[in-house]
Amino acid sequence: SGCGICTNRCPFNAISVINLPEALDNSIHRFGQNMFELFGLPTLSEGSVIGILGPNGIGKSTIMRILSGEMIPNLGNWENPADNWDEIIDYYKGSQLQSYFKNLSEGKIKVIHKPQMVDQLPKFVKGNVSELLSNADERNKFEEVIETLDLENVLNREITNLSGGELQRVAIAASYVREGDFYYFDEPTSWLDVRQRLNAVKVIRSLAEDGKSVMVIEHDLATLDAISDYINILYGQTGAYGVVSQMKGVRIGINAYINGFLKEENVRIRKQPIEFSIRPPTPEDEGESIVSYTNLKKSYDGFSLTAESGEIFHDEIVTAFGSNGIGKTTFAKILANEVKPDEGEVEEDIKIAYKPQYIVSDFEGRVEDFLYMNAPSYGSNIFKTEIMKPFSLEDILDKQVNELSGGELQRLAVATTLSKDADIYLFDEPTAFLDVEQRLIAGKAIRKIIESKNTASLIIDHDIVFIDYISDRAMVFQGEPGLKGKASKPMDLRTSMNKFLKDLKITFRRDKETKRPRVNKLDSYLDREQKEIGEYYYLK
Ligand code: ADP
Ligand code: ADP
Ligand code: MG
Ligand code: MG
Repeated sequence: SGCGICTNRCPFNAISVINLPEALDNSIHRFGQNMFELFGLPTLSEGSVIGILGPNGIGKSTIMRILSGEMIPNLGNWENPADNWDEIIDYYKGSQLQSYFKNLSEGKIKVIHKPQMVDQLPKFVKGNVSELLSNADERNKFEEVIETLDLENVLNREITNLSGGELQRVAIAASYVREGDFYYFDEPTSWLDVRQRLNAVKVIRSLAEDGKSVMVIEHDLATLDAISDYINILYGQTGAYGVVSQMKGVRIGINAYINGFLKEENVRIRKQPIEFSIRPPTPEDEGESIVSYTNLKKSYDGFSLTAESGEIFHDEIVTAFGSNGIGKTTFAKILANEVKPDEGEVEEDIKIAYKPQYIVSDFEGRVEDFLYMNAPSYGSNIFKTEIMKPFSLEDILDKQVNELSGGELQRLAVATTLSKDADIYLFDEPTAFLDVEQRLIAGKAIRKIIESKNTASLIIDHDIVFIDYISDRAMVFQGEPGLKGKASKPMDLRTSMNKFLKDLKITFRRDKETKRPRVNKLDSYLDREQKEIGEYYYLK
């Protein structure tokens, strides 16, 4: 399958690109012989947010490193790279990027760049949050950003003691309060919950409203949609080459990505469109339950969780969402029998395969050894077709487990969990570090396995488009983060989304063409209308 250009290394086994890289003459950078090559750069636009959409390993972070002046591109001439910006300035003669690179090389513009891997920050940045942000506060926005990004509670904490989500918000805040002309945000929403993602959208968009040029790389399609004015899609072959598309309007661009065809470029990036289905509510009293639990209660020092009694049926995927620190992982651990509830019980003695939220890679050895030891069905035909292939494990079999990227490790962890024999497959935040394509492919693979084994799955996640794509039913967690949480029983998606979004005071509509969920602008006509009739999540 594929287009004939794709080898079996194509991670999705579906990408077919019409342009051969040889036919492209706009090489911007090549890392070396037989190494990744980038074709083209996106342009910037004052007062706008440009979104960048594309798979992992296609050159997105490389673009930001070039545009922020951290790396001088070699225009494909890796054997004789220039040590200054003259060639690239000359290359872009007559276009907007000429003056951009000229000013950049002369230090006449100021660039702010939030890097992708915020977990590396504590290695380079010392001190507590309050000092750090007030030192960065060139625009006098300290108070404002602390409030919007909910950072009051961590102001006195040392950077080294922050969780991933806290670190991410501090990194966004530090970029925001700095005075710059161009702002680059590389994956700003990893580890954030839905409310925090939308607050990040607010903060980053307000930079554009202040006249700044902003660029954002993002894999959460609802967030990308809400944050961007325009988007550029990157396509090609991951790890080999990446091509930057023309700039497209945000709705048209995301729809083109979903449909798998870029009209202006005449390039098919996927065989089939991604299809969103509008599922009718599942009747509550049908089907046979695979597990049921009574009302549950669990308290830690300072935090308590209560869960409404519920059940999970055969062949269904139940998603669970809610703020960070509200008890989702605690609930998962109770189901997995890793934590004993103070009150109530899980009624059946069921076998659970569990992918924890934080995965560690202290395994010494290659991916293949890891699978051999940890994935019971490894080697079987089912494993080959239903797991190995969708998760593109072939590509990483020879890599050391402790050298995998976040996305590669996530794929390995989800795949290993799916290979186990269990009644319920439990995934705690499986989309972290995965790109759009990998998220949806993982969703499909989970669906296929549980249906073929007549089992069920519970998935905790923050990506609304992903949740919409895979949920049969959903649980909502509400309360006060870090203090108390209350889990609803699994309900149909419309009811649970309504409950969740009402609390967040945001509404979603569906795109007419692709049916994907889109955030309504606050106080727009649809937003007010939907709030009035209590339909925060339109299923139409
Ligand atoms: P993305 O951000 O889209 O996931 P990157 O821009 O980080 O992708 O990387 C694109 C490709 O370039 C990857 O295959 C990566 O391994 C490769 N690459 C990135 N940096 C270097 C480097 N310094 N040397 C060699 N290859 C690199
Ligand atoms: P979520 O997965 O929704 O982000 P968690 O279930 O991980 O939330 O945590 C909910 C709250 O319980 C947090 O405030 C967390 O600090 C606290 N907590 C979780 N596990 C423990 C534990 N073993 N001991 C004490 N507090 C805990
Ligand atoms: Mg990247
Ligand atoms: Mg959690």
